[in-house]
Amino acid sequence: MRLYEMFMEISVVIPLYNEEYLVGDLVERTISVLTGITGDFEIIFVDDGSKDGTVNRLAEARKTDTRIKILELSKNFGHQAAFTAGLTFAKGRFVVMMDGDLQDPPEVIPVMYRMLLSDEFDVIFGKRTNKPNLKGRNLLALSFHKTFKRFSGFPDIDNVGNFSAMNRDALAALLQFTESIRYLPGLRHFIGFRQGFVEYRREERYQGKSKMNYFNLLALSSDAIFSFSKFPIRICLYLGIIGIVIFFLAGLYTLIAKLAGFAITGWSSTLLSIYFLGSIQLTFLGVIGEYIFRIYKESQHRPLYFVRKFHD
Ligand code: UDP
Ligand code: MG
Repeated sequence: MRLYEMFMEISVVIPLYNEEYLVGDLVERTISVLTGITGDFEIIFVDDGSKDGTVNRLAEARKTDTRIKILELSKNFGHQAAFTAGLTFAKGRFVVMMDGDLQDPPEVIPVMYRMLLSDEFDVIFGKRTNKPNLKGRNLLALSFHKTFKRFSGFPDIDNVGNFSAMNRDALAALLQFTESIRYLPGLRHFIGFRQGFVEYRREERYQGKSKMNYFNLLALSSDAIFSFSKFPIRICLYLGIIGIVIFFLAGLYTLIAKLAGFAITGWSSTLLSIYFLGSIQLTFLGVIGEYIFRIYKESQHRPLYFVRKFHD
């Protein structure tokens, strides 16, 4: 007997935070797409501590279809923790991760599913094909992806987010990470296995406003960069070495000037070097602080989330 015969065919994990106006259309579109593939599925909606009627809407939808599962977290733990919670509870042979604002179109799921079924891939991730929109937070997202691509050494991570599907082998690997600061698209790449991608058009948010403000987005980007690249700490070293060379030459010049008797009392050069060195030192104290903060966070080993109730 194959291990996963006890599971269902597909689990779709969708995190939701204050999306009451979206639930109806989201449920309808996702179910109609899944029904086209198989009847044997579950949709795990992870309620990430919503303060609006999200859970009530979900509970209503569940009355007509018990394949809708609701995983209520005890408070808002954030998008990445919510996904992790949902993945842990998923029982499907294949598991899909999808945002709940219909920016990731459910219609792409059958394509991902077929690619996984062909048994040539263990993970299929969605790759956005849209021309980047260079306004506001999109510009921030784009510059993050470019920076991350440059410094993480992950060739494909450009334009890739959470939207993906994987089999149980890959899921088991993904769930082995215990770190509390997590960037799932990076971890999903890190596990290896046979990965493929589907290109798709990422829609504008279907309804409402993004639940990630600039601050959340910046925090997520720095988590990704700090946990997947050595660049921030390396640059201290490189700049330090360049500084040593420059200041060695400058020191030599100063010494010669003194010995040869043409040294002048120059306060501007003194001040400038103090300012320069001071600001570099402050910046890198900050960089080191980021690492210490992360070491501290990881050493706390806090649970990623708490479940208030699972409507199974
Ligand atoms: N979300 C969540 N917890 C949060 C923030 C967002 O579960 O703390 C959900 C949100 O409801 C949506 C998905 O995560 O289904 C993506 O969030 P959003 O669309 O706000 O992010 P963006 O697409 O703007 O990056
Ligand atoms: Mg969104």
